[in-house]
Amino acid sequence: MNKSYRKNKKTVGLSLRKLVMLLEGSCHCGAVRFSVQSQQPYPYMRCYCSICRKTAGGGGYAINLSGDHRTLKVEGEDYLTVYHARIQNPEDAAPFVSQGERRFCRQCGSCLWVYDPNYPDLMHPFASAIDTELPTPPEHTHILLDFAASWVEIPKLPNDRYFDRYPDESIADWHERLELTTD
Ligand SMILES: [Zn+2]
Ligand SMILES: [Zn+2]
Repeated sequence: MNKSYRKNKKTVGLSLRKLVMLLEGSCHCGAVRFSVQSQQPYPYMRCYCSICRKTAGGGGYAINLSGDHRTLKVEGEDYLTVYHARIQNPEDAAPFVSQGERRFCRQCGSCLWVYDPNYPDLMHPFASAIDTELPTPPEHTHILLDFAASWVEIPKLPNDRYFDRYPDESIADWHERLELTTD
């Protein structure tokens, strides 16, 4: 078992040799609280896109985790609002509106998670909204570097992976490769 998991008291159980962690999150004002089960709780992926930077990343990037949408529980749902980003990459002839639902607290502005209806079993909490102690990733993946702001310092670490756009492995694949999901 991974050491970081063993430390964490919020581990809720095993299913098919995979460890499940209960992630509890909240906005800054406390109006919204949520919990979700996750098999991919390592905060390893830094997204430098302008949406993440503007809406969630004061340091120039945001970190997405992955959770099981079917287990999502929300308190204070009335305070949730949604933002569908308008996207126009340099190669796009016209802007389009993302189907991704970025959830925020409408009272304090904390970004909470992203949900994409194309992947209805998943939701992606921002690590910044999670109150549960998260395990420390042994390496990182840096994505959408084409859109990083010039002032953002991007760490150059030997095992880290760097992508101008999207990475070649999913959040689940990353956890599998590093054997961080198995007991
Ligand atoms: Zn709030
Ligand atoms: Zn992003």
